[in-house]
Amino acid sequence: MPGFVRWFVRVTYEDVPMDSLSKTLGLSGFDQNSQFKAIVEGSDDAIISKDLAGTILSWNLAAERIFGYTAEEMIGAKMILLFPEGKELEESAILSQIAKGGKVDHFHTQRVHKDGSLLNVSVTASPIRSWDGLVVGVSSIARDITAQVRTEQEIARYQALIESSEDAIISKDLQGNVQTWNPAAEQMFGYSSAEMIGQPITRLFPPDRLKEEQRILEAIRRGEHIRHFRTTRLKKDGAPIYVSVSISPVYDSRRRVCGVCKIARDITKEIIHEEMIWKQANFDATTQLFNREGFSRYVDDLVRMSSLCEKRFALLLLDIDNFKIYNDTYGHDFGDKLLFHVATTLKGCLRESDELARFGGDEFIVCLSGFSSTSGIQDTAQKIIDQVGAVVEIDGTMIAMTCSIGIAVFPDDGGDLKSLLQKADHAMYGAKKKGKSQFRFFSGIAESDRPEDYSLVQALSLAIENRELELHYQPILDAHTLRVVKAEALIRWRHPELGFVPPDRFIPLAEKYGLIKQLGNWVTDQALSSLAEWVALFGQNFQLSINKSPYEFYDHDESIGSMTRALHHHGLSGRNLVIEITEHSLMDHSQVTRRILDSYQGLGIEIAIDDFGTGYSSLSYLKHYPVKLLKIDKSFVASLRDFGADYHLCDGILRIARNLGLQVVAEGIENEEQQMLLSSLGCDFYQGYLFSRPLNRSDFEAFMQRFVSEPDGDS
Ligand code: C2E
Ligand code: MG
Ligand code: MG
Repeated sequence: MPGFVRWFVRVTYEDVPMDSLSKTLGLSGFDQNSQFKAIVEGSDDAIISKDLAGTILSWNLAAERIFGYTAEEMIGAKMILLFPEGKELEESAILSQIAKGGKVDHFHTQRVHKDGSLLNVSVTASPIRSWDGLVVGVSSIARDITAQVRTEQEIARYQALIESSEDAIISKDLQGNVQTWNPAAEQMFGYSSAEMIGQPITRLFPPDRLKEEQRILEAIRRGEHIRHFRTTRLKKDGAPIYVSVSISPVYDSRRRVCGVCKIARDITKEIIHEEMIWKQANFDATTQLFNREGFSRYVDDLVRMSSLCEKRFALLLLDIDNFKIYNDTYGHDFGDKLLFHVATTLKGCLRESDELARFGGDEFIVCLSGFSSTSGIQDTAQKIIDQVGAVVEIDGTMIAMTCSIGIAVFPDDGGDLKSLLQKADHAMYGAKKKGKSQFRFFSGIAESDRPEDYSLVQALSLAIENRELELHYQPILDAHTLRVVKAEALIRWRHPELGFVPPDRFIPLAEKYGLIKQLGNWVTDQALSSLAEWVALFGQNFQLSINKSPYEFYDHDESIGSMTRALHHHGLSGRNLVIEITEHSLMDHSQVTRRILDSYQGLGIEIAIDDFGTGYSSLSYLKHYPVKLLKIDKSFVASLRDFGADYHLCDGILRIARNLGLQVVAEGIENEEQQMLLSSLGCDFYQGYLFSRPLNRSDFEAFMQRFVSEPDGDS
């Protein structure tokens, strides 16, 4: 609009000569002037005129709005006032260009607002000519492009970010065709942007993941965001990679979803690392089977599912008989190969739905689900025993292993892994006892036991926690000096409703239902804490006996380890401790029991055979076990009469003991006649109600005090 600019030389519109205005714009009269004024004042752009020296002559409303100065402030002022530092030369350049009759078009630069802030402006400057064509001034139109420049800068920053990002940043249309593809996407997937733009993104999807795209696009159309979605994609060379993808909708100016933007991060290394860690945490390195951790998770899930569908599953606890001998004889590498062989053999015996784990050592667990009858479990157990038992050559050595299996069934025998394992462990002990290379079911409560046993077992499992158990101590006297030199610790259980429950009633249940280890550890701990004080009080030679069940001896290392720790914890030497084990329990000639008793002896602990004479068996075992004491069962003592059958039996026992260098305790002595007869037979120690009943700890200590002051032990 050069005509308009040419006209615009005066300060205010009122002063404008109307004839020249009319001539220039083709308007006429005052109306035209008003219209013209309205155009200038209504403009969004600053319209400014100045003379060739840069002095401002006119200043419209938009100029006021954009630069913050009123017309009053600016008319007569120098234009240079609006120029930021360093840009002052622009003014002389513009003026000289205009003076030459030239023009400045859409020149992007900056000016200063009245408040000191910088404005981005696009300036167009044209010469104003006098009626005879001479350049007399400058008309300047400045458009505020600050917001636009800011947007452009922002876009440029985003662009730079996208270009330099290590994540693939991809945009696509709502049909899934790629629209932009950054350098990281090129790097990650191996396709150049030329190869991908316009192509469907599903090119990157493995065939089994194609449905994902449909679900992604549906979610995006609904305006949803998808964050950190882990999946796999294929590179150009076909190699799979793991990616974590975040996907967002792109909106148009009317807030309608018009496209998709996705950021994909290559997490292949991370996933491989996570998988490695997960494997280490859940799998056994030697056999690549589940370890305890992994298997626990598996069984937890199975319990949930089986409870929902009312299904059963069986746990088979498998222990290789005499594995330690192979390991010790041929070395650990050989042992590992054996374990690996067993793992492979087991896998061959199982179906898809079964699971397998190794819990360290030589213990494997098989989980069978989906069987229709117990005979299915029996068949698998027998198959395992047969196949593990097949002769195999390892490192040139022919080996024929045997294994024992204990079986517990969910939910009949337990509702969680812990209780099922306890029952399977118990059943396995039974299998081993029966002569190894056998399997055995845990004989479920429902099948064989009285219902009252069940509630008693439940109550017993809480008795320790509820502090219902107590240890009592019965004095044992030296037959020659009649001094108390030993005592026997005997467990007492006071049930809140049933009252006193005798150990003969609950110990067999604890053995049967897998509570005996827990009970035994409690007894050992209590007894050793009393003993530690008593050795100081009653002398270094004082001994305390504790009764141990062979069911506590299943794991050699655990039994000996915990005993060693307990002795150490209480600062005791093993020689103050006697372990009583019933004759009956030694009859299975178990290697484990023998090794454990040997190890106890190694700790200085003495072994006593309890209830001696009731085992009805060959006495040859006395040669094999490290026995120091025999305890004549109280049934013989009860009917001890001068020259009666039991008298001769006791006589026989004492002779055998003397010949083998063993000492004898007679238990159950209730009267002086019994004491006298036993004394005449040369018995070494006395125990029985005649001297004292079993006493609680403080009564026992009081008894000992009295006893010390009355050395004849007349109690
Ligand atoms: P035991 O080891 O043979 O213990 C001796 C039993 O004879 C004790 O019965 C004791 O109270 C009782 N007794 C002692 N002197 C006499 C007497 O003069 N006359 C009569 N009639 N009995 C006498 P208790 O305490 O009822 O224990 C029974 C069995 O329970 C024990 O027989 C032992 O086999 C077992 N037991 C007790 N405490 C424990 C324990 O802490 N662990 C294990 N595994 N078994 C235990
Ligand atoms: Mg005993
Ligand atoms: Mg006894």
